[in-house]
Amino acid sequence: QQETSRCAGCGVTLQTQTPSQPGYVPEAALQKEPVICQRCFRIKNYNEAASVAIDQDDFLRLLGGIAATDSLVVHIVDLFDFEGSIIPGLQRFVGNNPVLLVVNKIDLLPRGINTNRLRNWVQKQAKAQGIKLMDIILCSAKRGTGFEYVIESLAKHRGDRDVYVVGATNVGKSTLINRLIRDYSDLERELTTSRYPGTTLDAVHIPLDDGHDIIDTPGIVYQHRMTEIVPRNVLQAVLPEKEIKPVVYQLNAQQTLFIGALARFDFVEGDRQSFTFYVASGLNLHRTKLERADELFAEHKGVLLAPPTAEQLEEMPAWTRHRLSVKRGAEVDVFISGLGWIHVNSQVGALIDVHAPKGVRVMLRDALI
Ligand code: GDP
Repeated sequence: QQETSRCAGCGVTLQTQTPSQPGYVPEAALQKEPVICQRCFRIKNYNEAASVAIDQDDFLRLLGGIAATDSLVVHIVDLFDFEGSIIPGLQRFVGNNPVLLVVNKIDLLPRGINTNRLRNWVQKQAKAQGIKLMDIILCSAKRGTGFEYVIESLAKHRGDRDVYVVGATNVGKSTLINRLIRDYSDLERELTTSRYPGTTLDAVHIPLDDGHDIIDTPGIVYQHRMTEIVPRNVLQAVLPEKEIKPVVYQLNAQQTLFIGALARFDFVEGDRQSFTFYVASGLNLHRTKLERADELFAEHKGVLLAPPTAEQLEEMPAWTRHRLSVKRGAEVDVFISGLGWIHVNSQVGALIDVHAPKGVRVMLRDALI
């Protein structure tokens, strides 16, 4: 007799309340035999992975489970939100298993960008995070760009191992896995997860042609990303769909730029200079004088300054201020996790304040482009 409270596919504990969480099964489907979670159901019947999310503690437990296996770990990060989507301390949690870093969404960067330079940038950032990388792969899961390298690198580094795919939410993990399923899996075979009875990994095993499994894990939710704290219907405006068109502003000190009603960029001190905004094109940028900024926000939030709407703003954390000092001659980005970045090429230095919802990570980094 199978224990009825667990998915017969992946072993996750079943629940009927929250579709975005692991183990979700619609009430009606509980009558079926065997009972499998919606995520396993979709892969089995529609050849399609769907994102599910878990919190920090469950995620770390999941990573710890990987440490006990002999596997290849594929860490997907979002190039648009690199610092926000990289998993801190990943190496520590997955033990001795090698890590492949797949940097997704390169289609968002301007065409003709120097990929060697980009790769070096990624390498440097990953090293700072203590990740020992087998390889870095730049790709676009959505467009298929660079996918041959994903396959090639998987084949090269996998050996005789299973592959765990880990990442934060919204990095494109399901998009990537669906591409793998479409092109490289053999779903004539059953979901093989029953081979791992009672597993607590909450991971879905997808058989590939060569007899090995790709293992899809839930995405971790990081509250320091704008994408995780905006309401669902604002998410589409924040996530760029295609190549970002940078917008250049020549600003004088004491000028402010609103990014919708999601964040505010104050150029506090410094000579007149240009700032280049890399954000989704669905967001309104609005320039004003710093001394007018508070008043403008109070009067026009949710309408002129949008998204989100005024009602949605009520549900979001209030803004906090981050003071950033750009040194003379530095070429840096003001990075706002999940929202984008502002390139500063400062001959003269600049003092900048960024106002963003409390908790959203704001920082200076070496310029990406
Ligand atoms: P998951 O939560 O990691 O499984 O992410 P999804 O696969 O659901 O993708 C999250 C969002 O990113 C969706 O809006 C996708 O359309 C988008 N996305 C995924 N891959 C890419 C990509 O390569 N380029 C771009 N521009 N968007 C992508």
